[in-house]
Amino acid sequence: MTELLDGLGRPIHDLRISVTDRCNFRCTYCMPREVFDNHKFLPRKELLSFEEIERLVRLFAGLGVRKLRLTGGEPLVRNDLESLIERLANIDGIDDIAMTSNVSLMTAARAQSLRDAGLARINVSLDAMDDATFKAINDVDVSVQQVLDGIGHCAAADYDEIKINMVVKKGLNEHSILPMARFFKGTGQILRFIEFMDVGNANGWVPEEVFTAAEIVEMINAELPIEPTDANYSGEVAKRWSYSDGGGEVGVIASVSEPFCGGCHRARLSAVGQLFTCLFASFGHDLRTPLREDTSDKEILARLENIWQNRNDRYSEVRASLVGTPIKKVEMSYIGG
Ligand code: SAM
Ligand code: SF4
Ligand code: SF4
Repeated sequence: MTELLDGLGRPIHDLRISVTDRCNFRCTYCMPREVFDNHKFLPRKELLSFEEIERLVRLFAGLGVRKLRLTGGEPLVRNDLESLIERLANIDGIDDIAMTSNVSLMTAARAQSLRDAGLARINVSLDAMDDATFKAINDVDVSVQQVLDGIGHCAAADYDEIKINMVVKKGLNEHSILPMARFFKGTGQILRFIEFMDVGNANGWVPEEVFTAAEIVEMINAELPIEPTDANYSGEVAKRWSYSDGGGEVGVIASVSEPFCGGCHRARLSAVGQLFTCLFASFGHDLRTPLREDTSDKEILARLENIWQNRNDRYSEVRASLVGTPIKKVEMSYIGG
């Protein structure tokens, strides 16, 4: 099989699957209450069923997809995720299944059943170590301890990898960078800092609110010396930094200040079956209609190939030239992070 490449020569390796647009948090930079408290969430029948997701993933695997990530909204609010994971883990070609979650709903039993179903890795979102900051961000009164308990349950269930993602927004939580670094240093759980991004239109993003990767590194290095480390694989989005004293590593995802579109091998499937070829896309490609219209695998496959071959996205590389231009973009909670 010849490798499927997009318009800029990039293969498709990763698929992010949003399993719900709902979330139990109202993070101010993602689902601010002003916008989402009166939001009409999707009715159940609009969501792709597990059978539909499985069929699509089988086709994607035939095109080169090897890694899957379940996301949302909050994936743990979708019932019976275990049976979806089991189906996906049995697909030929899929060799890695991960999930991004706020883990506030992760019980010990759930961590174990997801692990048993075939979930290998978890990325936990946590943006502060103190309740005042964290609650101001999640806006639903969930404490830091509740998330740490979720992480503890995942650690007890022996996942291959647990990473912690912290979004840093200037003026909101840069004072949490060092407390987070101190807490996770030496735990084996890799902390990754993510620049605040202009995803969607709801979060009021302005470039001045980006606390840059360089500023993050400088802040950590001043107290806990770190040095750059080689990437684990080509196309890795996080730049790796190791503690000079051997206390492990941190990652920095500089999506705004140092874009990495050239190595972007990722597509995103929304909960209703829209395929997005970029996190900042204005529209998705409807895959649910053909799925529900008795379309053959061959025809859907041809559609997927056509979408990928016509992909030319490199939003982050051209962002600077677009500031001030009104662009309708899909929301993060809809497309999945
Ligand atoms: N609810 C889950 C969670 O928070 O882990 C999964 C979905 S959430 C949309 C995925 C990731 O996107 C989270 O780590 C979140 O912090 C990040 N995120 C959301 N809005 C963002 C923004 N504007 N800039 C950078 N990261 C953002
Ligand atoms: Fe929910 Fe995740 Fe968005 Fe926070 S970042 S509102 S937890 S989807
Ligand atoms: Fe990929 Fe789009 Fe992000 Fe560039 S801006 S890395 S193309 S998702």
